[in-house]
Amino acid sequence: MRNKKTIEDVDVEGKRVLLRVDFNVPLYEGTVVDDTRIREALPTIEYLRDHGARIIIATHLGRPAGHGEFESQFSVMPAALRLIQLIGQPVTVIGGSEIAGEEALSASLALKDGQIMMLENLRFDDGETANDLNFVKRLASLCDIYVNDAFGAAHRPHASISGIAEFVPAVGGKLLAKEVNTLHDMLQNPERPFVAILGGSKVSDKIGIIENLMDSADTIIIGGAMCFTLLAAQGHSVGTSKMEEDMLDVAKRLLDKADKQGVNLMIPTDVVCAEAMAEGVETKVVSVDEIPDDMMGLDIGPETRKAYAAAIADAATVFWNGPMGVFEFPSFEVGTKAVAEAVASSDAMSVIGGGDSVAAIKKFGLADQVSFMSTGGGASMQLLEGKDLPGVVALQDRG
Ligand code: ADP
Ligand code: MG
Repeated sequence: MRNKKTIEDVDVEGKRVLLRVDFNVPLYEGTVVDDTRIREALPTIEYLRDHGARIIIATHLGRPAGHGEFESQFSVMPAALRLIQLIGQPVTVIGGSEIAGEEALSASLALKDGQIMMLENLRFDDGETANDLNFVKRLASLCDIYVNDAFGAAHRPHASISGIAEFVPAVGGKLLAKEVNTLHDMLQNPERPFVAILGGSKVSDKIGIIENLMDSADTIIIGGAMCFTLLAAQGHSVGTSKMEEDMLDVAKRLLDKADKQGVNLMIPTDVVCAEAMAEGVETKVVSVDEIPDDMMGLDIGPETRKAYAAAIADAATVFWNGPMGVFEFPSFEVGTKAVAEAVASSDAMSVIGGGDSVAAIKKFGLADQVSFMSTGGGASMQLLEGKDLPGVVALQDRG
């Protein structure tokens, strides 16, 4: 989004800035379990504060009913309390059920330079997801400038993401710019060889990404349940493995496309099988030509692990989305762990996207050894499919 304005392109001093963040954080008994998203937004909040902006933070959190009622389990209060600890200054939360009402308006007008207030959960009002004009106008009335730093929500055409940008000058925050630019540069101009690793549960979820990556990656490594649809498309019998029958034609087209474009598409040559997806069941390593009829593949095998690790070791750019097996069970985590270790120990620019892949690399304690972990699931997937994000499109162009 280098063609879009960011906070550094506008004068925020003395202005009321509505900052949309993604503080949709996991909570347990009223406290924040993982504050990654709050910490990732700090550079933007601190920049705005240090430049004298009057800050109004807004986020959604979970999925409240949205009937205009305050639901305490979806209150942003725990996130606000965590923010106060991290930033070391007061943050006032405004509004119970009426988001962007009279109370919020007068509070916004009373803010002094560098002060911070926060709105209650935007989704208490169903105008947020409906991008309702009335709600959009009320939000817009709270501010002079709108800043989007909510990468994790930038793929949703909601009131506080795209609607508001029609009524006030709209620019991007630092996290949004970093996320979008990193993924964009990786797709447009990767250092080669560029190795993309794709796994996870369904070909149907990832088809757009695989196709788009074929235009930029040199090697595409496939694992996870979706490899069985590709193996089946090649004529292998896959036993009771998770396979999408209705995706077989699409899978054949992918195999053809890789062939035509000279992309090195790597598919498992051996897999770890079991009779059921459970911990403690008997497992068996077999070649992909010999998957028993009554067994399912639940992880990549040792020969495949070795080949994948070697390809990753040679890369200058690595992208990884989707686990190689059912990594939730120790019996089937070995393939995912091997890939995580190969990514972590490589000198390549490494990017990880996707909820379960990020969870996996954290689980193995290797998160600090990758170059970039995306904070947005759906938004990063949409960028990787080569699609624009409504929250980025809506921002002002750089003159
Ligand atoms: P991400 O969130 O990283 O994009 P996905 O949501 O697409 O990843 O897929 C993750 C899920 O895929 C995990 O829950 C994992 O257990 C499952 N999975 C991986 N390999 C297999 C397999 N061989 N059979 C069934 N499920 C699998
Ligand atoms: Mg997932």
